[in-house]
Amino acid sequence: MMKRQNRAAVLALCVFSAFAVVDTQTRVTAPSNKYSAADDVKLGREAAQEVRQQMPMLNDDRVDDYVDRIGERLAQQVPAEFQHREFDYTFDVVNLAEINAFALPGGPMFAHRGMLEKAGSEAEIAGVLAHEISHVALRHGTAQASKAGKYQMGQVGAAIVGAIIGGGWGEAVSTVGQLGFGAAFLRYSRDYEKQADLLGAQIMARSGYDPRAMATMFQRIEKESGGRAPEWLSNHPNPGNRAAYITKEAQALRVTNPVNDTRDFQTVQSRLAQMSPAMTSEEAARRAKNGNTRTGTGSTARPSGRVAAPSTRYTTYEEGGLFRISVPSNWREMASENNVTFAPEGGYGAIDNQNVFTHGVQIGLSRNERHSLQEATDEILASLAQSNRGMSRPSGYTRGTIGGRDALRTVVANNAETGRERLTVYTTQLQDGTLFYLIGVAPEGEASAYDSVFQRVATSIRFTR
Ligand SMILES: [Zn+2]
Repeated sequence: MMKRQNRAAVLALCVFSAFAVVDTQTRVTAPSNKYSAADDVKLGREAAQEVRQQMPMLNDDRVDDYVDRIGERLAQQVPAEFQHREFDYTFDVVNLAEINAFALPGGPMFAHRGMLEKAGSEAEIAGVLAHEISHVALRHGTAQASKAGKYQMGQVGAAIVGAIIGGGWGEAVSTVGQLGFGAAFLRYSRDYEKQADLLGAQIMARSGYDPRAMATMFQRIEKESGGRAPEWLSNHPNPGNRAAYITKEAQALRVTNPVNDTRDFQTVQSRLAQMSPAMTSEEAARRAKNGNTRTGTGSTARPSGRVAAPSTRYTTYEEGGLFRISVPSNWREMASENNVTFAPEGGYGAIDNQNVFTHGVQIGLSRNERHSLQEATDEILASLAQSNRGMSRPSGYTRGTIGGRDALRTVVANNAETGRERLTVYTTQLQDGTLFYLIGVAPEGEASAYDSVFQRVATSIRFTR
């Protein structure tokens, strides 16, 4: 009697371990979130609609079905504590060449064609999808928005769309157009990245995929990028030792008989190879001539560069109950969901549908976690450098104060489409750790004249909450 029971137990264990032994896995806890699951669904649905309108969708049933099948298989294995009955996991393929993928709150997910083309196996595709599914299940998008401040749903939605279409997708010509709140929503923190890796590994194992494929896919992405940070890493930063901890988790999960269906995978890859090659995001953005200017200036004309000298009289603005700032009276205020820009007539406009400004200042907030001010500043500069290929490294940091808080000032040169310019970046951290930044922009030839203006503007800042 005892023996038979034991044997039954051993048999049950064997069957189970064909997929995963779950007792030694890392415990993942969803971060706090002040939005409801229904908010996630609403935000994600609206953003997805916009994405489908603005980004080039592959619209190939065979490829879409294949990605759907992998995605569904994984989504069914989201652990019970992270399931939300309103969520609907959907998968679309975007016809762009980069290795990239992104998830919207509530379930809509998008994989770039380049990710399918460059993957070495179905399990590697599953690795990327499981990672994205985990961001959705853990509600990272709105958790991040919760930390960023007191934004209305509409602002959050616009910021998410802006971050994908205005930022991640379009290779911005703009000086600072894509930086701001929007970037913060999709650019997950390293903590969230690690959570998505670990939960993703667990979901893979539960679905019968070897989680180590996620690690090899991420290594592939880093290798492909050839030095320059690929889009994937700009939204999904490597928390450090990524491959090592995924491999460790995979060992704890022990998938002994992993899915290895290469036939469908090869069929899909050769199907993609027969199609005309996907454009890069940069090409696609250039061709998308009729996109709307969503944020900022509202002007579609190129900045003329003919700009009146900054008035010596200053006007004070109150921004969102957060801070007060004084700027030259002949600068116009242009608020967007991402940031606020003050610039003179002729010093702002649009190039290739990207808002740009050649003279003036832009102020915004950026989510920031457990970083020192200098690290947070470096992160802002790195984001800036992604959309400004001609940007130099900072030469150094000067310490000072803004609104009574410790601040850094750093100067970088930039080779913009409108000519050589100088960016003066002021940063400070707010009480909740959020990074507050002010970026002054002026053409190199006028930079010294604008120095004192930027300094006076920065000094005028008073935090009001
Ligand atoms: Zn991620």
